[in-house]
Amino acid sequence: MAAPFLAEAESLRDQLVAIRRDLHMHPELGFQEYRTATVVAEQLGALGYEVQTGVGKTGVVGLLQGDLPGERTVLLRFDMDALPIHEENDVPYRSQNPGVMHACGHDAHVAVGIGVATILARHRDQIGGTVKLMFQPAEEGLGGAFAMIADGLLETPKPDVALSIHVSSGHDTGTAVVREGPLMAASDGFQIVVRGRGGHGASPHETIDAVLVGTQIVVALQTIVSRNVDPNETGVVTVGAFHAGTAGNIIAETAELRGTIRSFTPDVRELLHRRVREVAEGVAASLGATAEVKLMIGVSPTVNEPQVTAVMREAAAAVVGADRIDSSYRTTGAEDFSAVLERIPGSYFFLGSRGGEASAFPHHNPRFDIDENCLPQGVAILCDTAVRCLHNA
Ligand SMILES: [Zn+2]
Ligand SMILES: [Zn+2]
Repeated sequence: MAAPFLAEAESLRDQLVAIRRDLHMHPELGFQEYRTATVVAEQLGALGYEVQTGVGKTGVVGLLQGDLPGERTVLLRFDMDALPIHEENDVPYRSQNPGVMHACGHDAHVAVGIGVATILARHRDQIGGTVKLMFQPAEEGLGGAFAMIADGLLETPKPDVALSIHVSSGHDTGTAVVREGPLMAASDGFQIVVRGRGGHGASPHETIDAVLVGTQIVVALQTIVSRNVDPNETGVVTVGAFHAGTAGNIIAETAELRGTIRSFTPDVRELLHRRVREVAEGVAASLGATAEVKLMIGVSPTVNEPQVTAVMREAAAAVVGADRIDSSYRTTGAEDFSAVLERIPGSYFFLGSRGGEASAFPHHNPRFDIDENCLPQGVAILCDTAVRCLHNA
């Protein structure tokens, strides 16, 4: 089956590459995407979209009404922010903003979004219903999706379907991951403050050593996934930071641990939260200290609705070939688009962007780059999925 929008997307290739490289040279951190939002708003306006700016501070929404009758609305989301990383790639389109880099590929997402906007505007005579484009700020841990939702993103018109994309340096160009159910994990944070009794390093018997208690907690937390979570399920408990003490001859009074908890299901999520608290408090108490545990609820798992995902899989198969679609991969990474998918049925997919050694560095690496051949593929898959979702009620 031929992919209906692929040839047209390929014809936009030079334009997509130019947009992506321009954004790559001018990366902006979360909630500071002023230049990026201006580029997006200008392009959408020129294409005939009704444009709203300042949605969730720096987000942009574009609305296009199809000429055919239709009541449905499809939302397509593209994140725009860069990361606080200094680019190490020596390429003509290297970041011009020292210490800030598009190291996750959101420059590619914006380029794909403008490509989708271009093609759907050209085909509005074949579209019934409304196309709603969501150009989102601050995906990297700052909650840009929540900010846009709080500003009314999901009202007037309320989307019936929500779609999104992420490029993947872990997958070859010309492949895609399209999977129903949880594709990415819930991500929550925790902080544990251990309080003992400080004193002289020569007299441990007069103290309660917060370093020793804290390290016992780190070790004991590793029993949660290995001993409490059903082996058929999965989860992660990582302690990423441990701060205590000031000098080698002083026993520390306090220790602070910080970490992240990842899960795919509500049951495992609840179990991990409960056990982190029980283990930390219990270990501390057994050693005469106290542990104050604070859980920071982050984002929900990114869960793809089966029917929309089936449509997306057909669209992706037409572009890359059915045998080049991975339907089983998932990752304990997390995504704030999950907040949209909690409210609107939809699907989020990974598009392979690894075209050789130069684009094989992982996301968030100072040498991250993409194989730009993926750009038209992303455009074609999303256009086809969007049109099918508008027309198949
Ligand atoms: Zn990222
Ligand atoms: Zn990303």
